[in-house]
Amino acid sequence: MKIIGLTGGIGSGKSTVLKYFENLGIPCYRADDRAKHLLHTSLQAEVKACFGAHFYSDGILDRKAMAALVFKDAEALKKLNALVHPAVALDFKNFVDAHSQAPFIIKEVAILFETGGHVSCDQVILVCAPKEDRIERVLKRDGGSRSDVLARMSHQWEDEQKIPLADFVVNNPNSCDLSPQLKQIYIKLKEFSRTED
Ligand code: ADP
Repeated sequence: MKIIGLTGGIGSGKSTVLKYFENLGIPCYRADDRAKHLLHTSLQAEVKACFGAHFYSDGILDRKAMAALVFKDAEALKKLNALVHPAVALDFKNFVDAHSQAPFIIKEVAILFETGGHVSCDQVILVCAPKEDRIERVLKRDGGSRSDVLARMSHQWEDEQKIPLADFVVNNPNSCDLSPQLKQIYIKLKEFSRTED
């Protein structure tokens, strides 16, 4: 079974691309969503012990407060990552085991190249879009200010840095019809998944 990474900057269209493949019946893993889920379930007690129970209210993590803490405190970020990363890795392993009969699965990770996670993928799909299109989409989707979006983008590499590392590049400017590009990638992934592991 092959593991296909799917990455791209915020607002590039990763979730949109993932949904396309999910509709084709391919098992799809959303690493960021799973991390959020784990923070509300198995990791909750550890996070409370490490950072204080006040970060949760009625079992819901105050993500803004946590983000503010780790943004200004590198040690706190290290501690949080030390809790979240192994938990997501185990969760992903369980997902892979549960889908071991599938020819390939897709793992969506926003910062894949930035963290070196691409080395454990067999191939990587990168979704690109012009920065202004991405900012406009995120403002529409999440609200907030332009500077909030830019701050989130500042943790991610520019497309130019990622393109040489990707096996497939999906170009997704505004109002683009993705299906011709994604059909081609699907055909190639099916071929690739038949090669030896
Ligand atoms: P990501 O997961 O990379 O942050 P999404 O797939 O959630 O990006 O896309 C961000 C927003 O932009 C969503 O609301 C989505 O519906 C919209 N969107 C995606 N692709 C396009 C496109 N080609 N033209 C216009 N809007 C788009």
